[in-house]
Amino acid sequence: MSASHAQCASLGRLGPDKNRAVSANIGNIRCPANTFRNLNFANNPTREWTLVPNVNRAYVRSTNSENAMSEQAELSREQTRDKLQTVNPATGEPGRSYDKHNPADAHAAAAAARETFLAWRRTSFTERSAIVRKAAEVLRARKDELAALMTEEMGKTLDEGRAEIEKCALNCDWFAGHAEKYLADEPVDLGEGETFVTFNPIGVVLAVMPWNFPFWQVFRFAAPALMAGNGALLKHASNVPGCALAIEEVLHEAGVPHDLFRTLLIGSRDVEALIKDENVAAVTLTGSVAAGKSVATASGSVLKKCVLELGGADAYLVLDDADVTAAAKIAATARMVNGGQSCIAGKRFIVLRSVLEPFEKALTDAMRGFEMGDPRKEGTKLGPMQSVKARDEIHAQVSESIRKGARLLLGGKVPDRPGAWYPATVLTNVLPGQPAHDDEVFGPVAAIISAEDEADAIRIANRSEFGLGSGVLTSNLERGQRIAAYELEAGMSFVNDNVRSDPRTPFGGVKHSGFGRECSAFGIREFVNIKTVHIKEPGKGGTSRTE
Ligand code: NAP
Repeated sequence: MSASHAQCASLGRLGPDKNRAVSANIGNIRCPANTFRNLNFANNPTREWTLVPNVNRAYVRSTNSENAMSEQAELSREQTRDKLQTVNPATGEPGRSYDKHNPADAHAAAAAARETFLAWRRTSFTERSAIVRKAAEVLRARKDELAALMTEEMGKTLDEGRAEIEKCALNCDWFAGHAEKYLADEPVDLGEGETFVTFNPIGVVLAVMPWNFPFWQVFRFAAPALMAGNGALLKHASNVPGCALAIEEVLHEAGVPHDLFRTLLIGSRDVEALIKDENVAAVTLTGSVAAGKSVATASGSVLKKCVLELGGADAYLVLDDADVTAAAKIAATARMVNGGQSCIAGKRFIVLRSVLEPFEKALTDAMRGFEMGDPRKEGTKLGPMQSVKARDEIHAQVSESIRKGARLLLGGKVPDRPGAWYPATVLTNVLPGQPAHDDEVFGPVAAIISAEDEADAIRIANRSEFGLGSGVLTSNLERGQRIAAYELEAGMSFVNDNVRSDPRTPFGGVKHSGFGRECSAFGIREFVNIKTVHIKEPGKGGTSRTE
């Protein structure tokens, strides 16, 4: 049934807090379009109306017809210059819409961030730590709510969302506790005077971030950046504006000065001008190779530092001495993290011919365990992809690979239901020229490639344009260590485990997977001025005759 104007008006009065969305469950009631110009109503699959302040129109749910739903799933953010419209990937239904910031707002935010940075850089590590630790507390207190937001906007399972928020909190605690040590002055003995290396903050860093780990990707950058004394501007992916605003809210709630960290709801076309803004010192991007090239070109044109965390086609070598069942379990876990939508997901399984057949069977069995299900339910192992468009791209890559000779062992069919669903899929006989071999497949698709021997497997692994993570599955640890440490062209190589990021170890890639590192002492030192200081007594200097 439709709500009357009066019902909607009373709903409008439910919003006591200008900064937080509030909900009112009113069953099936729908508000007439354009009833209230200052409110936005959207319903989630549980038919709960959500009231979002500061947006400009009422949204009315469409009919039940599956066609209408999939049309809405394709609603393009590009159609409206001023709004970001979210879509629930599990249902194809539209969610909330958010006003975009205009470019002038973004540049004003950069100026304000720079101004605030000038005071923040003079705060002590103790002061910054207290705030960053508080951010960890806020994250933990709001874990369920923030996880649900990810589920709504990009389809992550609630289980994985909760784990992601925990990891962000751990990361905040880690940098709150270790930044001072990582950035302590380092004395150097030159045999004369006093010399040391010091690490000054660099200024305001622009962070361009992806949707796949909407909180982790941002906190992985933000906690060390803030602890180093920098300011930050966040341009998040356009499909997770709610997450982007929630991150800003968490940091402000923790005590990060308002203008020091700002979320900007802008499109990717506005990024270049912001990189060139005099108040922005540097940029970090986590995303695709294409976006990396744009950002590197823009930052290069104004000679500003950039860190790029880009795509991956991680190879795992399955050696002839591997315990095939255990290897398949690790392979499936590596492939299926976040529904396969991870830069460091295992994507290519390069298997020595002598264990090919049993591995094909074992991996297919392990992947079969990742059944599609409601991402809000505990225990669901595979939710939807982030969008129908992304799902269609995955399916096109699978179909093209099969057309070019790959053999389908599992999945590979688009389910007949609304939303962005794709099943766990296994391809074998994957060969050069097939997308599953040559490109990054950003979904639940495991590609098995056969190799003649160890040297052939290493050659195939390194023949990729990418070099992010990699793995070796073997029962011979010495052999595994040798290959992982010295043979594989990747930023991370794990033996008998799935690759993952950790605040304590450097994270990043080589080749088209990007450059620079996040996490650990290496990450926090990316956005600092590594400065040499040399001090001599008056009258004792000026003796060196070389540069
Ligand atoms: P994407 O399209 O590159 O988007 C990532 C971010 O970049 C978004 O905020 C996007 O904004 C922005 N963007 C896109 N094109 C841009 C351009 N030309 N100039 C400036 N900004 C631009 O990437 P995605 O498809 O969402 O994410 C998946 C990719 O990210 C995969 O390749 C994955 O491997 C990679 N990734 C890498 C890591 C890592 O740590 N190495 C981690 C996660 C993901 P809009 O949303 O507004 O377009």
